[in-house]
Amino acid sequence: MISNSLIELDRRHLVHPVTAYREHEKRGATVLTSASGIHVQDSTGKRYLDGFAGLWCVNAGYGQQSIVDAAAKQMAELPYATGYFGFSNEPAILLASQLAELAPGTLNHVYFALGGSDSVDSAVRFTQYYCNAIGKPEKRHFISLEMGYHGSSTTGAGLTALPAFHAGFNVPLPNQHKIPSHYSYRNPVGEDPQAIIAASVQALRDKVTALGGPDHVAAFICEPVQGSGGVLVPPKGWLPAMQAACRELDILFIIDEVITGFGRIGPLFGSEVESLEPDLMTVAKGLTSGYAPMGAVFLSDRIYDTIADHAGKNAVGHGFTYSAHPVSAAVGLATLRLYTEGGLLESGQHAGARLMSRLAELAGHPLVGEVRGISMLAGIEVVASKETRELFAPDVAIGARLATASLDNGVIFRAFANGTIGLAPSLNYTPDDIDELVARVKKSLDDVLEQPEVRSAL
Ligand code: PMP
Repeated sequence: MISNSLIELDRRHLVHPVTAYREHEKRGATVLTSASGIHVQDSTGKRYLDGFAGLWCVNAGYGQQSIVDAAAKQMAELPYATGYFGFSNEPAILLASQLAELAPGTLNHVYFALGGSDSVDSAVRFTQYYCNAIGKPEKRHFISLEMGYHGSSTTGAGLTALPAFHAGFNVPLPNQHKIPSHYSYRNPVGEDPQAIIAASVQALRDKVTALGGPDHVAAFICEPVQGSGGVLVPPKGWLPAMQAACRELDILFIIDEVITGFGRIGPLFGSEVESLEPDLMTVAKGLTSGYAPMGAVFLSDRIYDTIADHAGKNAVGHGFTYSAHPVSAAVGLATLRLYTEGGLLESGQHAGARLMSRLAELAGHPLVGEVRGISMLAGIEVVASKETRELFAPDVAIGARLATASLDNGVIFRAFANGTIGLAPSLNYTPDDIDELVARVKKSLDDVLEQPEVRSAL
């Protein structure tokens, strides 16, 4: 169908995720039609370097034939199988067992969902069931971080602490609470890592106390790196300290690896960077590299066994029609093979080192307040004043300007509303591809800097 008709039909009928509907109707969609390697193409024939791996998910890049073949074969053989009533299927069994083998600590039990949000929901459901099973039904409260993102379901959006996901939606729920982020560039306690760690541990303790003590708190959940909050990397030692505090307080430690899983920050799981052993862990995105929808929650032996023993002969009433979907699982298996045997993890680590060193060169740019990141996950915080760290006023719409400039320069990155640029390239970028990406990001920053409305706001 020709481009203009598609854009018109999109305007009339397609409700988009996290979009200003009326603005989108005015502007019209960029309709993507094909992709190959690290590039995507739109319906006008324009090609873009994808610096965001779709939505930080296409870790393996586009056009991986082994994934395509695995999906086609599985669709022909067994396109669907329920996990209810004692049924199972081979790809789901193999994927669960291989993941359990690779996962940290005793995370040996894998429940498959469809994406990140319902994996987080599932983690919360299992946690609540566990607390009831151990005879602590008052353990109902959940604590998460300011600037955190945990999905767009009612539960996940409530754990999230980004204003757009709350406004008008009647979340957070009454049992969902926040403590300040470790966000070092704008932390009231300053940038000293030890001060930030101490403040977070104290904030967690204080919040637990305020909620009536450990008998009232089920869990603390956080991301290894806060992604949608603006790619906020915690100081080294922060995650182990929070895990230790959870153990000491007798609350569960849930790690949300939806972005950081599958090589995004180096190892297969982000938890490996600081040898974490969470009680529950959520993943999605890179699990299937976005080729089919799938997420998962890993349960430790203790959590799984307690739930199983408590339920006894009764069903644990949690499940989706598409839990352990065979086609998604076959895609997951083929993707996992690329990480573990196809050199994708090593390639990502190599490219990630290059990305970090090349991006560091942008720190001197007049619009750049801070460059931060780890391996193939990076944030560039754009500011109106490098000295005072002041952001651009909302009416400058710096995020929208950067987004437009990126498309003009044939590159896709995430332009957060406050101006932060998010980068999450596919792990199969070569060093030359990284250089090209950084050059196009710099050109986009230069172009925006030339705009009179931006210049006058500096
Ligand atoms: N948790 C985290 C940390 C995420 O980044 C996301 C998505 N960006 C989610 C949960 C929700 O995942 P999904 O969009 O697949 O539902």
